Amino acid sequence: MIRWLQDLLLFFFPVNCLVCGKSLHNTEEVLCLGCEYRMPRTGYRDDPENPVSKLFWGRVPVECGTSLFRFEKGSSYQTLLHALKYKGNRKSGIYLGRLLGHELKTTSYSECEMIIPVPLHKKRYRERGYNQSELIGRGLSDVLGIPMATNVLVRTRQHDSQTTMGRLDRFENVSGNFSLSPRAPDISDRRILLIDDVVTTGATLETCCRVLLGSFRCKIYVATVSCA
Ligand SMILES: [Zn+2]
Repeated sequence: MIRWLQDLLLFFFPVNCLVCGKSLHNTEEVLCLGCEYRMPRTGYRDDPENPVSKLFWGRVPVECGTSLFRFEKGSSYQTLLHALKYKGNRKSGIYLGRLLGHELKTTSYSECEMIIPVPLHKKRYRERGYNQSELIGRGLSDVLGIPMATNVLVRTRQHDSQTTMGRLDRFENVSGNFSLSPRAPDISDRRILLIDDVVTTGATLETCCRVLLGSFRCKIYVATVSCA
């Protein structure tokens, strides 16, 4: 779009930073530069023994795991995930995926050959209109140049009673069941980057890993936008 038209649109329809509420400059997207800079990043990407990797130890063989930022209770950054998951803010998903992509560039995660997002149950997908992990995957795929495959895993059951769950469970539907899609391509000997928006107990990702490893001899790397 022509620059002056963009400026004019922003003047009449200002877009605000999702964290601090300040109106965004036309070079900023979703977050202002200050909030992007102050994001509570984990720094886990370079530490193979970080808490996210450790979640899978003794449970399922994962090469390594990481998260972009820490989910702190009451943190203003919580609004980012909330906007993505419950308020239909699709742009924030792609934006977070890009941030994660830049974080993982120049690491072993960037050598993966396929991005697989944790799927939603088709009923939930229809209700929401999108899968937040898939949006993150789109941003990630843009930055890392790794193709995303949404035809590998299928969610066969999704816990629906969100109101009866605790805060953490609400962000990670631990009772979802997964299976291999009948349309799944052969991913033997591939390095897979399995992604989700949030990891808490690791149960969801663990189940996905079991399904993949049960059918293929592949290597799995795990990355999420946030960890609690
Ligand atoms: Zn801000």
